[in-house]
Amino acid sequence: MLIIMHKDATADQIAHVLEKIHSTGAAEGFVSRGELHTVIGVVGDPGQVAELPIAAMAGVERVARVSKPFKLVAHTGHDATSTIPVATTSIGPETFTIIAGPCAVESEEQTLAAAHAAKDAGAHLLRGGAYKPRTSPYSFQGLEEEGLRILDLARTETGLPIVTEVMDSRDVEKVAAVADMLQIGTRNMSNFTLLKEVSLAGKPILLKRGMTATIEEWLMAAEHIAKNGNLKIVLCERGIRTFETATRNTLDISSIPVIREESHLPVIIDPSHAAGRKSLVAPLSLAAVAIGADGVMIDVHCEPEKALADGPQALIPQELKELAGDIRALADHVGRRY
Ligand code: PEP
Ligand code: MN
Repeated sequence: MLIIMHKDATADQIAHVLEKIHSTGAAEGFVSRGELHTVIGVVGDPGQVAELPIAAMAGVERVARVSKPFKLVAHTGHDATSTIPVATTSIGPETFTIIAGPCAVESEEQTLAAAHAAKDAGAHLLRGGAYKPRTSPYSFQGLEEEGLRILDLARTETGLPIVTEVMDSRDVEKVAAVADMLQIGTRNMSNFTLLKEVSLAGKPILLKRGMTATIEEWLMAAEHIAKNGNLKIVLCERGIRTFETATRNTLDISSIPVIREESHLPVIIDPSHAAGRKSLVAPLSLAAVAIGADGVMIDVHCEPEKALADGPQALIPQELKELAGDIRALADHVGRRY
């Protein structure tokens, strides 16, 4: 951390800042006097100094961070990307994971049909929302507990582990009793109470990027989960809000190599929610393989025109099967097991 003092900061003001740094017992400040500025370099544990309101102290012009604010999810200290076990499978850098299923659990018949389509296509996990975060309160809100029962049945029938969203801290126990992996949706990435509760539930967590979150904010959300004791975290890039209206969200494909540099956590892409329409799902999925993502999560529905949520972005079973074949071929080409 660097503390840049005002040009005319007094010796007393500089001494006061140094005293505050030393009072943490964890860091030291070193003063460099230039012609225009006096800079205090902080070494030691800058995390504790970052908690002090240094920028509010007299004589301070600004504070510049040098180290990253996240520790547990940082790449530092890890040779490679972590592999996260999820029930009978795992998500990590050796393999390429396909998660497929309906956006929402709408009925037993619809979910089982989509689950079998996912299984037939060679998917590793089944997705499906029982609790749905909808923009409109008049849209289908999910079957909730009945949806969990259907997901449990779909797992029994197909053997696929289940990933499903939990939206509210009060539901974590119920959802965790059924889910093999808990999904935090884009709208809840910054719900820190929920992040703590899902961490404590102990199940692997799929953390979607907030649609207006920077990569650092996304990693700080992961840090909240990690700090509460659960490091079984997989990140999911699902597109961000930009000025572009041709797609539902703008898939930030660059976030994948950035995450690789910054974090040891695996990261997957959700091309369906990024694009919002099915014609883009295949190209974005192949881009996910090429750029080194650890998997994709794809919406599938047997009758998209009747879907209660996100029909326009859902592939039909045959399309999913063809795409999975193309993904397998490309994954093989880039040296990933499928
Ligand atoms: C979903 O995956 O069902 C979903 C609601 O996605 P997101 O939170 O990315 O909008
Ligand atoms: Mn959806």
